[in-house]
Amino acid sequence: MMVLPDFQLVRPSSLSEALSALAENPGAMPVAGGTDLLVSMKHGLFSPTHLVDLKGAPELHHLGVGEEGATIGACVRLSRIKDHPLIRTRYRALSQAAEAVASPPLQNRGTLGGNVCLDTRCYYYNQSDFWRRSLGGCLKKDGPICRAAPAAKRCFANFSSDTVPALIALGARVRLVGGPNGVKSERTLPLEEFFVEDGIKRNVLLPGELVADLHLPPAENLLSGYRKYRQRASIDYPLVSVAVAFQVREGRIREARVAVGAMASSPVLALETMEVLEGALPAPELLASAAELVTKRTKPVGNQAGSPGHRRLMARVMCRRLLKELLEAGPL
Ligand SMILES: Cc1cc2nc3c(=O)[nH]c(=O)nc-3n(C[C@H](O)[C@H](O)[C@H](O)COP(=O)(O)OP(=O)(O)OC[C@H]3O[C@@H](n4cnc5c(N)ncnc54)[C@H](O)[C@@H]3O)c2cc1C
Ligand code: SF4
Repeated sequence: MMVLPDFQLVRPSSLSEALSALAENPGAMPVAGGTDLLVSMKHGLFSPTHLVDLKGAPELHHLGVGEEGATIGACVRLSRIKDHPLIRTRYRALSQAAEAVASPPLQNRGTLGGNVCLDTRCYYYNQSDFWRRSLGGCLKKDGPICRAAPAAKRCFANFSSDTVPALIALGARVRLVGGPNGVKSERTLPLEEFFVEDGIKRNVLLPGELVADLHLPPAENLLSGYRKYRQRASIDYPLVSVAVAFQVREGRIREARVAVGAMASSPVLALETMEVLEGALPAPELLASAAELVTKRTKPVGNQAGSPGHRRLMARVMCRRLLKELLEAGPL
């Protein structure tokens, strides 16, 4: 049986209390729904001295959709996002992605902030302590080499969040608060700049810093969608995922954004695909050639089910089908 290691639970009732608790306890980690972190703690991947429960901070639960766009607090649960009527119609890719996370009970518990800050995953890492020790660990935890790519100098664990590719395609910005510069410090950046292509570091969060919320720009006439390829449709992380968002003006595709998930240690913006789509007439041959380029910037290695070649092929197929379906269906 896998048991949780000892830790102290801190339950602040505001965001500033949560930031102070993190600043005062350098061995602390934030926890929201706990659906990722607690499993990893049972696997011996993390042993924080304190867990700072963010759910008591009312500032992190806001969800507003209006003419200015949408703002979603870090502790908003995925089921609330999935079921929100305006997110379903205006930001369809996000609602589809929230619905694709794990299973309904986990969507009822898991939060958007936790999904954005999800640890990277790898077949050789997401295992029990006993399993990993029998192999001698790996670069990401307790070992000298990468088991998936032994000649590699870095970790290639996959960034497997479902909502993040959708948020990036929709043009999201993330607001970070706190950290070493004090509880009042704050910065906002495009979500794609939050991630780093390193399976160990994974994002730019500084010690004690938190994701406060995500902001989406207005979505007038926006067509968007999310597709995920996984082993079991009932519950599973993505082997590859694709999110697309664009407008159609005067018969041409405009402001297209395409993001690919689970094919690298960070989500990838498919810039070559976006370039081909921009200003194009939506002809089938054009959609096919745009989709062919969708994996150009990805770096999958053999560290999860499905060979890298198969996952690349599925990304291209999903991208082509998604573009075609969105153009045929039109706005909701
Ligand atoms: C069986 C199973 C299947 C799953 N399948 C999927 C899947 O298909 N797709 C998918 O995307 N996920 C999946 N998950 C992972 C998880 O359920 C979701 O990613 C969920 O959204 C995580 O949110 P949480 O609030 O539970 O995060 P937590 O577990 O609370 O936290 C996750 C990480 O984020 C950090 N964190 C949390 N909130 C913040 C914040 N505001 N600021 C800074 N850091 C923060 C924590 O310290 C931790 O490192 C699965 C999990 C399980 C157990
Ligand atoms: S990619 Fe390599 S270093 Fe990273 S978790 Fe997997 S085996 Fe470990």
